[in-house]
Amino acid sequence: MATRITESDTASLQTSSPEGAPALDAREQIIVRDPATGAELARVPVRTAEEVGRAVARARAAQKSWSALSFRERGRIVFAARALVLAEMDELAQLISRESGKPAAEAISMEIVPTLDLMQFFARRTARLLKPERIPIGLYELMGRTSYVEYRPLGVVGIISPWNFPWAIPLGEVVMALMAGNAVVLKPSELTPLVALKIGDMFERAGLPAGLLEIVTGAGATGAALVESGVDKIMFTGSVATGKRVAEAAARRLVPVVLELGGKDPMLVFEDADIEAAAHAAVWGAFANSGQACASVERCYIDERVAPAFTTRVVELTRALKQDIGAREGADLGAMSSARQLSIVEEHVREAVEHGARVLTGGGRADIEGVTQDETLFHQPTVLADVNHTMRVMREETFGPVLPLMTFKTEEEAVRLANDSEFGLTASVWTRDIGRGRRVASRVEAGTVMVNEVLYTHGIAQTPWGGVKESGLGRTHGRLGLLEMVAPHHVHTNRLARLPDVWWFGYTPQAAALFRSLARRFATGSALQTTLVMPQILRRVLGGKKK
Ligand code: NAD
Repeated sequence: MATRITESDTASLQTSSPEGAPALDAREQIIVRDPATGAELARVPVRTAEEVGRAVARARAAQKSWSALSFRERGRIVFAARALVLAEMDELAQLISRESGKPAAEAISMEIVPTLDLMQFFARRTARLLKPERIPIGLYELMGRTSYVEYRPLGVVGIISPWNFPWAIPLGEVVMALMAGNAVVLKPSELTPLVALKIGDMFERAGLPAGLLEIVTGAGATGAALVESGVDKIMFTGSVATGKRVAEAAARRLVPVVLELGGKDPMLVFEDADIEAAAHAAVWGAFANSGQACASVERCYIDERVAPAFTTRVVELTRALKQDIGAREGADLGAMSSARQLSIVEEHVREAVEHGARVLTGGGRADIEGVTQDETLFHQPTVLADVNHTMRVMREETFGPVLPLMTFKTEEEAVRLANDSEFGLTASVWTRDIGRGRRVASRVEAGTVMVNEVLYTHGIAQTPWGGVKESGLGRTHGRLGLLEMVAPHHVHTNRLARLPDVWWFGYTPQAAALFRSLARRFATGSALQTTLVMPQILRRVLGGKKK
């Protein structure tokens, strides 16, 4: 939960979002609070640059022997950690709920279930996914050459994670990095350090050797120190503004980065869509995790012919949602995670209404039993109509429980509206005609486009996750995500080393003539053309050999 920060703390921390930072005490500890009730949960240290440097050094030392283990041996540790997650699922869900505000049931469905699957997937499959690959090299093979690529660990991977999925986002990357043979230094969000410390605790109890997973708690300055610490890669998930800062700092040191940033994800509902299913999907896609998901449905465009029926159903379903303290059973929506995020939501709604938007349901803070209205971080699920693309609620990431609805007349217009955004994380297309859905999907600018689905594919371990445009760079999850955790190592072998290469020195007139033939024939990729140049090649090679 975000509360005040003292002046001296602000100066020393230089966090990217001081007004959103949690309170610190005099010894620079983070005071972690339950966003639903404001109750203090614990205090954790703010790690300094020196402490981050020491954590990276410990990780680097531990990585050497870890990378020497087989995939099976690494997988055994991941399976042992997985068994602990399964055994302690309900306590874990309560911790996630208390620290982030989300319903405990949702912590299970959206964080724990997907990571249990991800853990088994990468523990079993990394060996196959990272198997050395022979590369066909065409006519060079006629010259006795072969090539293959093997995938080596990078060394130490730095992970910087946000607060909205405090378990699933860092854990997925920790598992991929470890399975690929790396050590990890994780800097979790200052709003949710306890869940990250739990990840460390579970791996420690699972038998992960010391140093392989270091957790450095703190705010922006600790994250910045990690970027400067000499790690071999940064996997960053967070806002566009911080992502750009991280990319700049990483570029100065040539540290590669993956940036998983914000979204403004559109949902397109065509006239032939299953309206009932689409309405349920829109409500879940917009309001799950109180709309604080990078892939939340943030803009919904509906064919004007079905807009009245769809809108009526969306409003009915929204009004039926139960909002309560997340740890209590039956809550559909919990508290938002920080006062800062709540104020962004309020500002987007206020500005939209000022410019003519209509609130169909919701629109303000929610009244929750046992929570005083002044301190509440609960925002009602809110549906807006009569919005347009001049409004912030349609252009900027709202990251809250707000679903703006807009109509379109043609497929062309729907695609244009979807692409009229700086972001491109996910998008969703609703139609009974799968061919049409895929046709539209291929035209929408996003890292993932779902046909008749919303939001959830971060939960599929096998598929790549990442965005285009301001939504980021690189991928996580799936084989493409795993490849971000390794350095491709190309090994090229010449089995005819006793013969000189045709391109070596001795640039005689005959050599120059051969080079021209190579340009005209060999470089066509045609075996026949290459055969025609073989006599020239043999003359030079065997002549060179005689010398
Ligand atoms: P944020 O950018 O404020 O913080 C993210 C992390 O960066 C935190 O751990 C923070 O302490 C750290 N940080 C802050 N300043 C830093 C600096 N100068 N150098 C290094 N690290 C620094 O983001 P947030 O508010 O925690 O998360 C919400 C954002 O994350 C939203 O924009 C959301 O869309 C995005 N997000 C994206 C994905 C994705 O997969 N694309 C997933 C979840 C969240």
